[in-house]
Amino acid sequence: MVASPGVAIGKEGPLLSSDIRFNLNVSRFLEEIKVHGNIKISITSPCDKCLVPVESVIEPEINLVLTPDRISEEEEDNVDHETYSGDEIDLSNYLREIILISIPVKILCAEECCGVCSICGKNLNIGSCSCKDEWIDPRLSALRDLKL
Ligand SMILES: [Zn+2]
Ligand SMILES: [Zn+2]
Repeated sequence: MVASPGVAIGKEGPLLSSDIRFNLNVSRFLEEIKVHGNIKISITSPCDKCLVPVESVIEPEINLVLTPDRISEEEEDNVDHETYSGDEIDLSNYLREIILISIPVKILCAEECCGVCSICGKNLNIGSCSCKDEWIDPRLSALRDLKL
């Protein structure tokens, strides 16, 4: 099997920051092709809070049974089923799907990430800003502006 999936993740999604490493075993029994193993990729995506690029490694498991273009009778748990036709097997769509579902929804640079200041946009992991000191309770400012 030629492992050239050309996996491209959508433009707005995380970026692949390394080549995809495949560790796949392919076995064939009559018309049934089993693909088992895992793939390893690094992705770079912005921290959910402070937007700093974060690199993370994901290693989705592959457990796939390929059968020719027809519905297979028995379905096993935890095994994906795909069909193939002809001599060529194109796993690119399948692998793209696997990668997309294994990317965490929220990626944080650190669990205790402080995020950015909502007023000045400063990264609060680097240092604090002075916005909080100048922040005036809206109720107080209403009182202050009150003209008697
Ligand atoms: Zn962060
Ligand atoms: Zn600020």
